[in-house]
Amino acid sequence: MNNRLVIVDAGHGGIDSGAVGNGLLEKDLNLEASKYMYNRLKELGIPVVMTREEDTYLPKEDRIRRVMSLSSNVTRPLLIANHINAGGGEGAEVVYSLRDNDTLANLVLDKIGEKGQLKRKIYQRRLPENPNKDYYYILRETGNTEPILIEYGFIDNKNDAYKLKNNLIDYVEGVVEAIAEYLDYPYNPSNGNEAKEEYIVEKGDTLYSLSKRFNISIDELKRINNLDSDILSIGQVLKLSDYNNIEYDTYIVKKGDSLWAISRKYNISVKELIEINNLTDLTLQINQQLLVPKTNKNIYIVEAGDTLWSIARKNNMTVEELKSLNNLNSNLISVGQEIIIK
Ligand SMILES: [Zn+2]
Repeated sequence: MNNRLVIVDAGHGGIDSGAVGNGLLEKDLNLEASKYMYNRLKELGIPVVMTREEDTYLPKEDRIRRVMSLSSNVTRPLLIANHINAGGGEGAEVVYSLRDNDTLANLVLDKIGEKGQLKRKIYQRRLPENPNKDYYYILRETGNTEPILIEYGFIDNKNDAYKLKNNLIDYVEGVVEAIAEYLDYPYNPSNGNEAKEEYIVEKGDTLYSLSKRFNISIDELKRINNLDSDILSIGQVLKLSDYNNIEYDTYIVKKGDSLWAISRKYNISVKELIEINNLTDLTLQINQQLLVPKTNKNIYIVEAGDTLWSIARKNNMTVEELKSLNNLNSNLISVGQEIIIK
């Protein structure tokens, strides 16, 4: 066994969402992957730390400082930077540094491939202004480490987005296996706990014990399960993650839109809308893209002779409801117009 430390780095975070696409935010997937990786490596007895454990913003300098301080007293820790790609392409890539050979990168990509993801390539990337240096700072400026940067798939590719939603943890399990093999640790498959999406409360469970066991904060557990109190009952079903279950659509901001109007349209609070989109600037720009929960909304196309009143009557709604749901300021509608109905 090789007693090297593994530093797990969840890329991006906080106001830096990384790549966005198909209703997914890179920073969330990176964190999910990293937490799982951390727990599994720990389970296998491999010394492991994380650079961030929550949805926090880590500017470049802070991230490097963290990695350097975590690796200051140890010999060449592995640094695993978890990322999701974007920009046209499909499949997984692993980037390794100019100071290393390709052994670990190859092993990692092979294991991800065995879990069903398309293997794109392993490669080194050089800084254009200085080809002796790595392009990515997480490789370039973390001198004491043996780093790799893993891109699990392309967030803006439909096939990959589907796979990332459903199989990301499997791919990470592949990476865990690769790391164990590389460091010469015995590997056992996951006992399944961490990948679960639901948990049935057993005797003796508390929110605190479950939060520790599944590596999720008490607040998060309460939020995704809509819990008002801390009291659990035996047999109660708890959701353990919600990023798999919430689907998003892209909404394009129109003239006259406000956060309030959009949040009403999609039946969420303004606060949630701000959180989903990590908005720091609350002034909307026309054509700005916002993530909104996917709704199974019914659309009615206006026909000749229709009025708001007739449409409202037909659908058991009031004209006021129709107007607020559709963000209409007047009673005028035109043939072919799309009206959201309940
Ligand atoms: Zn990234």
